[in-house]
Amino acid sequence: MASLAQVSMASLSVSSGLNKAVRQQYMSLPQGGKCQVTYIWIDGTGEGLRNKTRTLDIEPTSIEDIPEWNFDGSSTYQSEGSNSDMYLIPVCMFRDPFTLDPNKLVFCEVLKYNRLPAETNHRAACNKVMEQVKEHCIWFGMEQEFTLLGMDGHPFAWPQNGYPGPQGPYYCGVGADNAYGRDIVECHYKACLYAGVKICGTNAEVMPSQWEFQVGPCEGIDMGDHLWVARFLLHRVCEDFGVVATLDPKPMKGNWNGAGCHTNVSTKQMREEEGLQYIEQAIEKLSKKHTEHIREYDPRGGEDNKRRLTGLHETSNIEDFSAGVANRGASIRIPRQVGQEKKGYFEDRRPAANCDPYSVTRAITNTCLLDEEE
Ligand code: ADP
Ligand code: MN
Ligand code: MN
Ligand code: MN
Repeated sequence: MASLAQVSMASLSVSSGLNKAVRQQYMSLPQGGKCQVTYIWIDGTGEGLRNKTRTLDIEPTSIEDIPEWNFDGSSTYQSEGSNSDMYLIPVCMFRDPFTLDPNKLVFCEVLKYNRLPAETNHRAACNKVMEQVKEHCIWFGMEQEFTLLGMDGHPFAWPQNGYPGPQGPYYCGVGADNAYGRDIVECHYKACLYAGVKICGTNAEVMPSQWEFQVGPCEGIDMGDHLWVARFLLHRVCEDFGVVATLDPKPMKGNWNGAGCHTNVSTKQMREEEGLQYIEQAIEKLSKKHTEHIREYDPRGGEDNKRRLTGLHETSNIEDFSAGVANRGASIRIPRQVGQEKKGYFEDRRPAANCDPYSVTRAITNTCLLDEEE
Protein backbone atom coordinates (compact mmCIF):
# COMPACT_ATOMS: atom_id res chain seq x y z
CA MET A 1 0.00 0.00 0.00
CA ALA A 2 1.22 3.52 -0.80
CA SER A 3 2.28 5.92 1.90
CA LEU A 4 2.56 9.66 1.33
CA ALA A 5 6.36 9.39 1.60
CA GLN A 6 6.28 7.31 -1.56
CA VAL A 7 4.63 10.10 -3.62
CA SER A 8 7.30 10.99 -6.12
CA MET A 9 8.12 14.69 -6.46
CA ALA A 10 7.70 14.31 -10.20
CA SER A 11 3.98 13.85 -9.71
CA LEU A 12 3.69 17.29 -8.03
CA SER A 13 3.71 20.53 -10.07
CA VAL A 14 6.85 22.65 -10.36
CA SER A 15 5.14 25.84 -9.14
CA SER A 16 4.05 24.16 -5.93
CA GLY A 17 7.76 23.87 -5.12
CA LEU A 18 8.37 27.65 -5.32
CA ASN A 19 9.49 29.30 -2.10
CA LYS A 20 6.28 29.96 -0.17
CA ALA A 21 8.08 31.78 2.66
CA VAL A 22 9.33 34.40 0.18
CA ARG A 23 5.82 34.70 -1.22
CA GLN A 24 4.50 35.40 2.26
CA GLN A 25 6.70 38.51 2.57
CA TYR A 26 5.01 40.08 -0.46
CA MET A 27 1.55 38.93 0.56
CA SER A 28 1.81 40.81 3.84
CA LEU A 29 2.68 44.17 2.19
CA PRO A 30 0.01 46.89 2.61
CA GLN A 31 -1.84 47.55 -0.65
CA GLY A 32 -2.40 51.30 -0.49
CA GLY A 33 -6.15 51.26 0.11
CA LYS A 34 -6.79 49.55 -3.22
CA CYS A 35 -8.84 46.41 -3.72
CA GLN A 36 -7.99 43.41 -5.91
CA VAL A 37 -11.04 41.84 -7.54
CA THR A 38 -10.75 38.46 -9.24
CA TYR A 39 -13.47 37.79 -11.83
CA ILE A 40 -14.29 34.07 -12.27
CA TRP A 41 -16.27 32.52 -15.14
CA ILE A 42 -17.11 29.21 -16.83
CA ASP A 43 -15.31 28.69 -20.15
CA GLY A 44 -16.53 27.16 -23.42
CA THR A 45 -16.07 23.59 -22.22
CA GLY A 46 -18.82 24.08 -19.62
CA GLU A 47 -16.47 22.54 -17.05
CA GLY A 48 -13.35 24.69 -17.01
CA LEU A 49 -13.07 27.82 -14.88
CA ARG A 50 -11.10 30.94 -15.82
CA ASN A 51 -10.20 34.02 -13.82
CA LYS A 52 -8.44 37.35 -14.06
CA THR A 53 -7.85 40.18 -11.64
CA ARG A 54 -8.13 43.98 -11.68
CA THR A 55 -7.65 46.80 -9.17
CA LEU A 56 -10.58 48.86 -7.87
CA ASP A 57 -9.95 52.14 -6.04
CA ILE A 58 -12.40 51.41 -3.26
CA GLU A 59 -13.56 48.21 -1.63
CA PRO A 60 -16.93 47.19 -3.11
CA THR A 61 -19.66 46.67 -0.52
CA SER A 62 -22.14 44.87 -2.81
CA ILE A 63 -22.24 43.26 -6.22
CA GLU A 64 -23.64 46.51 -7.69
CA ASP A 65 -20.28 48.16 -6.99
CA ILE A 66 -18.43 45.75 -9.31
CA PRO A 67 -18.21 46.97 -12.91
CA GLU A 68 -18.85 44.72 -15.91
CA TRP A 69 -15.69 43.55 -17.66
CA ASN A 70 -14.72 41.54 -20.74
CA PHE A 71 -12.31 38.90 -21.97
CA ASP A 72 -11.04 37.29 -25.15
CA GLY A 73 -13.49 34.51 -25.90
CA SER A 74 -11.34 33.12 -28.73
CA SER A 75 -8.90 31.90 -26.06
CA THR A 76 -11.53 30.13 -23.93
CA TYR A 77 -13.33 28.11 -26.67
CA GLN A 78 -16.11 30.73 -26.55
CA SER A 79 -15.93 32.71 -29.81
CA GLU A 80 -14.21 33.32 -33.13
CA GLY A 81 -11.09 35.51 -33.12
CA SER A 82 -12.71 38.11 -35.41
CA ASN A 83 -15.49 38.89 -32.93
CA SER A 84 -14.02 37.69 -29.70
CA ASP A 85 -15.00 40.10 -26.93
CA MET A 86 -17.28 38.49 -24.35
CA TYR A 87 -18.97 40.33 -21.47
CA LEU A 88 -18.44 39.41 -17.82
CA ILE A 89 -21.50 40.24 -15.71
CA PRO A 90 -20.75 40.01 -11.98
CA VAL A 91 -23.47 38.05 -10.13
CA CYS A 92 -22.09 37.28 -6.68
CA MET A 93 -19.20 38.36 -4.50
CA PHE A 94 -17.06 36.48 -1.97
CA ARG A 95 -14.02 37.29 0.19
CA ASP A 96 -10.72 36.19 -1.33
CA PRO A 97 -9.14 33.54 0.95
CA PHE A 98 -5.81 33.66 -0.94
CA THR A 99 -4.94 37.37 -0.92
CA LEU A 100 -7.30 38.07 2.03
CA ASP A 101 -9.43 41.14 2.94
CA PRO A 102 -10.32 43.53 1.44
CA ASN A 103 -9.86 41.59 -1.81
CA LYS A 104 -12.78 39.87 -3.53
CA LEU A 105 -13.70 36.95 -5.73
CA VAL A 106 -16.55 37.71 -8.09
CA PHE A 107 -18.42 35.02 -9.99
CA CYS A 108 -19.71 36.15 -13.38
CA GLU A 109 -22.19 35.23 -16.09
CA VAL A 110 -20.80 35.30 -19.62
CA LEU A 111 -22.69 37.13 -22.40
CA LYS A 112 -21.86 37.11 -26.11
CA TYR A 113 -21.21 40.20 -28.28
CA ASN A 114 -24.99 40.56 -28.70
CA ARG A 115 -25.48 40.34 -24.90
CA LEU A 116 -27.25 36.98 -25.12
CA PRO A 117 -26.01 34.21 -22.77
CA ALA A 118 -22.94 32.32 -24.03
CA GLU A 119 -23.54 28.64 -24.99
CA THR A 120 -22.21 27.37 -21.65
CA ASN A 121 -23.95 30.04 -19.57
CA HIS A 122 -26.75 27.92 -18.09
CA ARG A 123 -27.25 30.32 -15.21
CA ALA A 124 -29.46 32.68 -17.19
CA ALA A 125 -32.12 30.00 -17.90
CA CYS A 126 -31.83 28.60 -14.37
CA ASN A 127 -32.41 32.01 -12.84
CA LYS A 128 -35.59 32.49 -14.89
CA VAL A 129 -37.05 29.26 -13.53
CA MET A 130 -36.00 30.05 -9.95
CA GLU A 131 -37.70 33.47 -10.19
CA GLN A 132 -40.96 31.76 -11.20
CA VAL A 133 -41.03 29.45 -8.16
CA LYS A 134 -39.88 31.89 -5.49
CA GLU A 135 -42.91 31.25 -3.23
CA HIS A 136 -41.94 27.54 -2.92
CA CYS A 137 -38.59 28.43 -1.25
CA ILE A 138 -36.84 25.52 -2.97
CA TRP A 139 -33.62 24.45 -1.23
CA PHE A 140 -30.77 22.38 -2.61
CA GLY A 141 -27.72 20.71 -1.11
CA MET A 142 -25.13 19.21 -3.47
CA GLU A 143 -22.50 16.61 -2.56
CA GLN A 144 -19.46 17.27 -4.73
CA GLU A 145 -17.28 14.18 -5.13
CA PHE A 146 -13.83 14.61 -6.71
CA THR A 147 -10.59 12.71 -7.19
CA LEU A 148 -7.07 14.00 -6.56
CA LEU A 149 -4.54 13.30 -9.30
CA GLY A 150 -0.79 13.83 -9.49
CA MET A 151 0.64 15.91 -12.37
CA ASP A 152 1.16 12.58 -14.17
CA GLY A 153 -2.63 12.06 -14.30
CA HIS A 154 -2.44 9.06 -11.98
CA PRO A 155 -4.54 9.16 -8.76
CA PHE A 156 -2.61 11.02 -6.07
CA ALA A 157 -0.40 8.78 -3.89
CA TRP A 158 -1.39 5.56 -5.66
CA PRO A 159 1.57 3.26 -6.29
CA GLN A 160 3.36 4.06 -9.56
CA ASN A 161 2.96 0.49 -10.76
CA GLY A 162 -0.12 -1.26 -9.50
CA TYR A 163 -2.98 -0.38 -7.23
CA PRO A 164 -3.74 0.37 -3.60
CA GLY A 165 -5.60 -2.31 -1.62
CA PRO A 166 -9.27 -2.84 -2.57
CA GLN A 167 -12.03 -0.48 -1.44
CA GLY A 168 -13.20 -0.91 2.13
CA PRO A 169 -11.04 1.05 4.57
CA TYR A 170 -11.02 4.40 2.78
CA TYR A 171 -14.59 5.83 3.16
CA CYS A 172 -14.42 8.28 6.11
CA GLY A 173 -11.04 6.67 6.86
CA VAL A 174 -8.18 7.93 8.98
CA GLY A 175 -4.47 7.11 8.95
CA ALA A 176 -1.70 7.51 6.40
CA ASP A 177 -2.59 4.20 4.74
CA ASN A 178 -6.29 5.15 4.34
CA ALA A 179 -6.57 8.91 3.74
CA TYR A 180 -4.63 10.37 0.80
CA GLY A 181 -4.40 14.16 0.56
CA ARG A 182 -6.41 15.38 3.55
CA ASP A 183 -4.41 18.66 3.59
CA ILE A 184 -6.23 19.71 0.45
CA VAL A 185 -9.65 18.94 1.87
CA GLU A 186 -9.00 20.79 5.13
CA CYS A 187 -7.52 23.84 3.42
CA HIS A 188 -10.39 23.94 0.93
CA TYR A 189 -12.94 23.76 3.78
CA LYS A 190 -11.32 26.75 5.54
CA ALA A 191 -11.04 28.67 2.27
CA CYS A 192 -14.79 28.17 1.64
CA LEU A 193 -15.72 29.32 5.15
CA TYR A 194 -13.50 32.41 4.85
CA ALA A 195 -14.89 33.25 1.42
CA GLY A 196 -18.51 32.91 2.52
CA VAL A 197 -19.29 29.81 0.45
CA LYS A 198 -22.02 27.76 2.14
CA ILE A 199 -20.00 24.57 2.63
CA CYS A 200 -21.67 22.26 5.16
CA GLY A 201 -19.37 19.24 5.40
CA THR A 202 -16.76 16.95 3.97
CA ASN A 203 -15.69 13.29 4.02
CA ALA A 204 -13.23 10.86 2.49
CA GLU A 205 -14.82 8.67 -0.19
CA VAL A 206 -14.86 4.96 -1.00
CA MET A 207 -11.99 5.08 -3.52
CA PRO A 208 -8.61 6.17 -2.12
CA SER A 209 -7.74 9.80 -3.09
CA GLN A 210 -11.44 10.44 -3.67
CA TRP A 211 -13.17 12.98 -1.41
CA GLU A 212 -16.45 14.84 -1.09
CA PHE A 213 -17.59 18.20 0.17
CA GLN A 214 -21.20 19.28 0.59
CA VAL A 215 -22.65 22.72 -0.12
CA GLY A 216 -26.07 23.78 1.14
CA PRO A 217 -28.82 24.15 1.87
CA CYS A 218 -28.95 26.95 -0.68
CA GLU A 219 -32.14 28.53 -2.00
CA GLY A 220 -32.74 28.64 -5.76
CA ILE A 221 -30.00 30.17 -7.89
CA ASP A 222 -27.58 30.32 -4.93
CA MET A 223 -26.94 26.58 -5.28
CA GLY A 224 -25.20 26.93 -8.63
CA ASP A 225 -23.37 30.09 -7.60
CA HIS A 226 -21.96 28.60 -4.41
CA LEU A 227 -21.03 25.24 -5.93
CA TRP A 228 -19.17 26.82 -8.84
CA VAL A 229 -17.19 29.07 -6.50
CA ALA A 230 -16.48 26.08 -4.22
CA ARG A 231 -15.09 24.28 -7.28
CA PHE A 232 -12.91 27.28 -8.14
CA LEU A 233 -11.53 27.27 -4.60
CA LEU A 234 -10.83 23.54 -4.85
CA HIS A 235 -8.81 23.91 -8.07
CA ARG A 236 -6.98 26.91 -6.62
CA VAL A 237 -6.07 25.12 -3.36
CA CYS A 238 -4.90 22.07 -5.33
CA GLU A 239 -2.70 24.39 -7.42
CA ASP A 240 -0.90 25.48 -4.24
CA PHE A 241 -0.19 21.84 -3.36
CA GLY A 242 0.83 20.86 -6.89
CA VAL A 243 -1.95 18.31 -7.42
CA VAL A 244 -5.02 18.30 -9.67
CA ALA A 245 -8.68 17.75 -8.77
CA THR A 246 -10.71 15.99 -11.43
CA LEU A 247 -14.51 15.89 -11.52
CA ASP A 248 -14.50 13.03 -14.03
CA PRO A 249 -17.44 10.80 -13.05
CA LYS A 250 -15.42 7.59 -13.48
CA PRO A 251 -11.71 8.37 -13.23
CA MET A 252 -10.62 4.73 -12.74
CA LYS A 253 -12.15 1.84 -14.67
CA GLY A 254 -12.87 -1.40 -12.88
CA ASN A 255 -13.76 -2.08 -9.29
CA TRP A 256 -13.45 1.55 -8.16
CA ASN A 257 -16.33 3.89 -7.27
CA GLY A 258 -17.19 6.71 -9.64
CA ALA A 259 -17.82 10.33 -8.63
CA GLY A 260 -21.25 11.92 -8.45
CA CYS A 261 -22.87 15.13 -7.37
CA HIS A 262 -25.91 13.92 -5.39
CA THR A 263 -28.50 16.68 -5.31
CA ASN A 264 -30.75 17.04 -2.27
CA VAL A 265 -34.00 18.92 -2.74
CA SER A 266 -36.84 20.29 -0.64
CA THR A 267 -39.64 22.81 -0.97
CA LYS A 268 -41.35 24.65 1.86
CA GLN A 269 -44.26 22.19 1.65
CA MET A 270 -41.93 19.17 1.88
CA ARG A 271 -40.25 20.57 4.98
CA GLU A 272 -43.55 21.11 6.84
CA GLU A 273 -45.53 18.43 8.77
CA GLU A 274 -46.80 15.62 6.47
CA GLY A 275 -44.52 16.98 3.73
CA LEU A 276 -43.74 13.43 2.56
CA GLN A 277 -46.77 13.50 0.25
CA TYR A 278 -45.16 16.39 -1.70
CA ILE A 279 -41.89 14.46 -1.90
CA GLU A 280 -43.80 11.49 -3.32
CA GLN A 281 -45.54 13.77 -5.85
CA ALA A 282 -42.18 15.15 -6.97
CA ILE A 283 -40.74 11.64 -7.36
CA GLU A 284 -43.77 10.62 -9.43
CA LYS A 285 -43.13 13.57 -11.78
CA LEU A 286 -39.40 12.80 -11.96
CA SER A 287 -40.15 9.16 -12.88
CA LYS A 288 -41.80 10.37 -16.11
CA LYS A 289 -38.84 12.51 -17.16
CA HIS A 290 -35.89 10.17 -16.54
CA THR A 291 -34.23 10.44 -19.95
CA GLU A 292 -34.70 14.22 -20.08
CA HIS A 293 -32.99 14.52 -16.72
CA ILE A 294 -30.08 12.21 -17.60
CA ARG A 295 -29.39 14.54 -20.55
CA GLU A 296 -28.93 17.48 -18.13
CA TYR A 297 -26.85 15.61 -15.54
CA ASP A 298 -23.43 15.77 -17.22
CA PRO A 299 -21.88 18.10 -19.83
CA ARG A 300 -22.17 15.48 -22.60
CA GLY A 301 -25.87 14.69 -22.46
CA GLY A 302 -25.44 11.43 -20.54
CA GLU A 303 -22.28 10.11 -22.22
CA ASP A 304 -20.07 10.76 -19.18
CA ASN A 305 -22.59 9.37 -16.73
CA LYS A 306 -22.89 6.14 -18.75
CA ARG A 307 -19.48 5.12 -17.42
CA ARG A 308 -20.62 5.74 -13.84
CA LEU A 309 -24.32 4.77 -13.61
CA THR A 310 -23.84 1.05 -14.11
CA GLY A 311 -26.03 -0.27 -11.30
CA LEU A 312 -22.89 -1.22 -9.37
CA HIS A 313 -20.84 0.77 -6.84
CA GLU A 314 -23.83 2.40 -5.11
CA THR A 315 -25.41 3.64 -8.34
CA SER A 316 -28.60 2.96 -10.28
CA ASN A 317 -28.46 1.88 -13.94
CA ILE A 318 -28.61 4.83 -16.33
CA GLU A 319 -31.51 3.19 -18.23
CA ASP A 320 -33.84 2.78 -15.24
CA PHE A 321 -35.63 5.05 -12.83
CA SER A 322 -36.07 3.86 -9.25
CA ALA A 323 -36.77 5.38 -5.84
CA GLY A 324 -36.68 4.12 -2.28
CA VAL A 325 -36.21 4.91 1.39
CA ALA A 326 -32.54 4.56 2.42
CA ASN A 327 -31.76 2.89 -0.94
CA ARG A 328 -28.33 3.94 -2.24
CA GLY A 329 -28.80 1.85 -5.38
CA ALA A 330 -31.81 3.92 -6.48
CA SER A 331 -32.03 7.00 -8.72
CA ILE A 332 -33.85 8.83 -5.92
CA ARG A 333 -33.30 8.12 -2.24
CA ILE A 334 -35.53 9.27 0.60
CA PRO A 335 -33.26 9.45 3.65
CA ARG A 336 -34.40 7.10 6.44
CA GLN A 337 -35.04 9.95 8.85
CA VAL A 338 -37.25 11.70 6.29
CA GLY A 339 -39.30 8.49 5.91
CA GLN A 340 -39.71 8.32 9.69
CA GLU A 341 -40.53 12.00 10.28
CA LYS A 342 -42.72 12.12 7.15
CA LYS A 343 -41.17 15.43 6.10
CA GLY A 344 -37.87 16.79 4.84
CA TYR A 345 -36.11 16.32 1.51
CA PHE A 346 -35.16 13.79 -1.16
CA GLU A 347 -31.86 12.99 -2.87
CA ASP A 348 -31.37 12.70 -6.64
CA ARG A 349 -28.30 10.47 -6.93
CA ARG A 350 -27.99 10.66 -10.73
CA PRO A 351 -26.04 13.90 -11.43
CA ALA A 352 -22.40 13.27 -12.36
CA ALA A 353 -19.54 14.97 -10.50
CA ASN A 354 -18.91 17.22 -13.51
CA CYS A 355 -22.55 18.31 -13.92
CA ASP A 356 -23.48 21.96 -14.24
CA PRO A 357 -25.46 22.68 -11.04
CA TYR A 358 -27.47 25.31 -12.92
CA SER A 359 -28.70 22.67 -15.40
CA VAL A 360 -29.41 20.15 -12.63
CA THR A 361 -31.34 22.51 -10.35
CA ARG A 362 -33.23 24.00 -13.30
CA ALA A 363 -34.31 20.56 -14.55
CA ILE A 364 -35.45 19.41 -11.10
CA THR A 365 -37.33 22.63 -10.40
CA ASN A 366 -38.95 22.59 -13.81
CA THR A 367 -40.14 18.99 -13.51
CA CYS A 368 -41.27 19.16 -9.88
CA LEU A 369 -42.86 22.61 -9.80
CA LEU A 370 -43.53 23.81 -13.36
CA ASP A 371 -44.28 20.55 -15.18
CA GLU A 372 -47.46 21.77 -16.88
CA GLU A 373 -45.49 24.39 -18.82
CA GLU A 374 -43.41 21.85 -20.72
P1 ADP B 1 -25.39 11.52 2.25
O1 ADP B 1 -25.93 10.75 3.42
O2 ADP B 1 -26.21 11.30 1.02
O3 ADP B 1 -23.93 11.27 2.00
P2 ADP B 1 -24.54 14.24 2.97
O4 ADP B 1 -24.50 14.43 4.44
O5 ADP B 1 -23.26 14.04 2.27
O6 ADP B 1 -25.60 13.07 2.64
O7 ADP B 1 -25.22 15.51 2.29
C1 ADP B 1 -26.49 15.97 2.66
C2 ADP B 1 -26.84 17.18 1.82
O8 ADP B 1 -28.23 17.47 2.00
C3 ADP B 1 -26.09 18.46 2.20
O9 ADP B 1 -25.61 19.10 1.03
C4 ADP B 1 -27.16 19.33 2.85
O10 ADP B 1 -26.94 20.69 2.61
C5 ADP B 1 -28.39 18.87 2.13
N1 ADP B 1 -29.67 19.11 2.85
C6 ADP B 1 -29.94 18.92 4.16
N2 ADP B 1 -31.21 19.28 4.43
C7 ADP B 1 -31.76 19.68 3.27
C8 ADP B 1 -33.05 20.17 2.88
N3 ADP B 1 -34.04 20.28 3.76
N4 ADP B 1 -33.25 20.49 1.60
C9 ADP B 1 -32.27 20.35 0.69
N5 ADP B 1 -31.04 19.90 0.98
C10 ADP B 1 -30.78 19.57 2.25
MN1 MN C 1 -22.51 12.47 1.03
MN1 MN D 1 -20.48 10.46 -1.47
MN1 MN E 1 -25.54 11.28 -1.03
